[in-house]
Order: sequence, then C-alpha cells, then structure tokens
Amino acid sequence: MKYEPVIGLEIHAELLTQSKMFCSCAVVDSTTALPNRHVCPVCTGQPGALPAINARAVELSVRVGLALNCEIHSESIFARKNYFYPDLPKGYQISQYELPLATNGWLDIDTPEGLKRIRIRRVHIEEDTGKLSHVDGRSLVDYNRSGVPLLEIVTEPDLRSAEEAVAFAVKLRAILRYLGVNTGDMEKGVIRFESNVSVRPAGSDILNTRTEIKNLNSFRSLLAGTAYEIERQSAIYDTGGAVDQETLGFNEMTGKTYSQRGKENAHDYRYFPEPDLPPLVLDPGWIQTIQRSLPELPDAKRQRFIEMGLTAYDASVLIDEKAVADYFDRAVEYGLSKQIEPKSIANWLTTDLFARLDDKSAIQACPVSPQMLVDLIALVTDRTINTSTARAVLDEMFTTGKAPGEIVREKGLSQVSDQAQIREAIRKVLEANPGEVEKFLAGKESLAQWFFGQVMRSMGGKADPMVIRSTLDEILSSLKQ
Ligand SMILES: [Zn+2]
Repeated sequence: MKYEPVIGLEIHAELLTQSKMFCSCAVVDSTTALPNRHVCPVCTGQPGALPAINARAVELSVRVGLALNCEIHSESIFARKNYFYPDLPKGYQISQYELPLATNGWLDIDTPEGLKRIRIRRVHIEEDTGKLSHVDGRSLVDYNRSGVPLLEIVTEPDLRSAEEAVAFAVKLRAILRYLGVNTGDMEKGVIRFESNVSVRPAGSDILNTRTEIKNLNSFRSLLAGTAYEIERQSAIYDTGGAVDQETLGFNEMTGKTYSQRGKENAHDYRYFPEPDLPPLVLDPGWIQTIQRSLPELPDAKRQRFIEMGLTAYDASVLIDEKAVADYFDRAVEYGLSKQIEPKSIANWLTTDLFARLDDKSAIQACPVSPQMLVDLIALVTDRTINTSTARAVLDEMFTTGKAPGEIVREKGLSQVSDQAQIREAIRKVLEANPGEVEKFLAGKESLAQWFFGQVMRSMGGKADPMVIRSTLDEILSSLKQ
C-alpha cells in the first residue's frame, strides 16, 4: 500500500539573553564553561527560592511570535510541568501550557510543488534543563544550562515528507538568526528538533498513532530520522501490525530510531499554574513597538532580491544565511557607484566566492570584502582583465587579502587589448602551424577555436578574448579569399 506521512515539528530554541529565564545567573556556552559555576538557589531548585521573569527573554519571544505571524496574547500563564529527572533539580519545569504566549501562526516553505503554508500551533516560553553526561559508568550533571530561556515552537501536522520537515527547519533557523534571538549553532545544541511522525493510507484523512523522535540536533538527523520512521511505520502497517505511541531516539551511526519510553500524555505531567509567578501581561503598545522594530525577514529579502533582477533560485541561495544576504547588500550598494549590476554580483558570489568558502557562514571571516569583490568585477567589466585572470586574482585575494587592483598591477596582469599586438600574435600562430591553416581552409572550421586557444596561450592568458576573436575572424576570412 502507498502511505502518506503526516509530520509535525516541535522546536526548542535557546534565547540569546545575558541572564537566565527566572534568575540573574549568566547564560554561558555550555560546551566551554566550567560546569556548575553559573548557578544559584533559583536555578538549582532550592526550597524557598523565588523566580522572577526575564523581560528580555519575553521580548525576544514576542519577536519570534510576530515573525511567525502568530497572535500574541496580552495575557499568558506560566505553568509547572511536573516530572523527575536528574537534570531537573526542582522536580518540575516552568513552562506554559493552557495559555501560551502566542498561537495560530504560519510560515511558508519552498517545496518542489511551490510555496506551501505550514501552520504554527503555538509558541511558548519555558526554561532549559541541566545537562547530563555519561562518563566511565558515571553520570555527571551540569546545571549551568538549568534555567536558560527556551522557546518552544510547535507546528500543526502539515508536513508531508522528511524533505518538507527539513525545509521548514532551515527556514525557521534562518528567521531566528535574522531576529537575533538564537545563534543557530546546532552543534552546540542551541536548537533541537523533534519530529512527530505518523503515516496513513494515501488519500485518507485519518490521523494514525504517532511517534516522537527527540533531540534531532542537525538537519541531517532530522531528515534521516524522519525518513527512517516513515519507512518503519509503513512496513508495520504492511504486515498488519500496529504502531505504538512512544518516544524515540535516533542513532546517527545506525541511521535507525530506537524506543526510549512509552509516551507520556499531558495529564501525566500534572500541569498547574505556577503559583510563584503572576500572569504574564503584555502592553499592546509594547508589542507594536516590537513589531515595528523587526528586521527585514527572509521572505521580504528574497522578494527584494528578485526585484533587483535575480532569479528566484539565486535569491533563495543568498537569503539562507543572514551574513551572506548582508554581504550581498553591501556589495550591491557599493556596486551602484561603479555601475555593477546586482545580477553580476550574485553570480560571482554564488559561484566563485562560495567555491572558495568552507561553508556559507564562513563569509563573515572572508578576507575578500564586498567592496573588494565589486572592484574585481569592475576590472572585468571595464576589460582590464578577463574572467579567467579574475579567478586567479580572486585566489590571490583570498590568500593575501590584497586589493584586486594592487594584484593586477604587481603581477602585470592587465589584459592586452591592443589590436596591433594581438594581430602580431595571431600572425605568429598561423605561421607556426601551416598544416592546421591548410585544414582550416579545406573546411575544418572548428580549428578557429584551436587557433584562438593558441593565441591566448601565447599571450599568457592575458589578452582580451573579444579582440582576439574579432581579429582572428577577420584574418581567417581574408585568407579564405
Ligand atoms: Zn540561577
């Protein structure tokens, strides 16, 4: 039977605040800071310690809610989610349950069938737990992360393939980075994805039992884990079995999901309103101020780039990474004074510059500034150098950080456009290859390209290809007469 996957995502994203959600402890990089140095009675759950809400965390959460087209609730409630785990010293996590910060949003993603709208069910604020590591048969716990502000974003089950899930995740991560609320460093665990998967007979609208794959920390794991689970459940139904509702882990080595525990239901957590915190009441004027301060988001940027003359594909490639979009914008602005087209900048950026970067985010440390890239393109446009010389100059710019004009001067790379010099070079090539000339005259027209290559080589690759071509055409056709 053919099955249709039904997928919803839950995303946990740490918020980029200085201090924790309910106390004044500093938020530190959990991969480098000494363990348990940034803790206090509140975030380690000591009796009698009282939480206080971090206003900056609320502001960042509202930014996300607005960017995801949600309704922001002027009153929301913090709730206790009760469960025991060694990384949760209070025995409960402060979260939001019945009245979350924001609901009913959406985000459009690109799919091969076109734009698709994915509904966002809710966005709520909670606190992160501590971090357990298992070393030599012992379990160690670090509470530095305990109480770090965390945003949970939950979609409706609108995704229909593992690829769509990844497209959503990529876009959401880009938005969080554009908003400045999260670094997007997935290897540090600051964004974690959870994929809720079920399958049903294609064409049906039932909702079958779903499983939840926890802690998918990379797009690759999200893709592979979700795809594996779709296959696994389809195979179970094919043999007449039933899928158990459970929480799964994903093993990156084997590429398989494995059972962690039977699924808890909401009532297992005994949610109740947090008695130590008042309702979170937001002033509508403050929400409007935040709305007005939102930066240009990926969709708007993409549209603006398309209006500059870029293809939809190039525009999409440029917006994924905010640093790349910013680089492009700076280059375009500088290029205006030199009459360099945005299209031409996009071409150089997405092909030649990207080819020299380890990944797109490396553009921030790139020794070639937007201005330098435009200066290089200008040298090609005004025919000081040809394209292949320009590529060699770009290599040199990468290693030395020198300006393109300087490299061209120092190495004498200026293109030769002088017709007399080129004419002389052509004469020598034809003289040295009488056999080829004869074949050409006998009708082997393709040799014109070979002559072109020989002339370019004899001039060290620096000749103006247009001048060679026109002069060569002229000479060859005069020989034919
Ligand atoms: Zn603390």
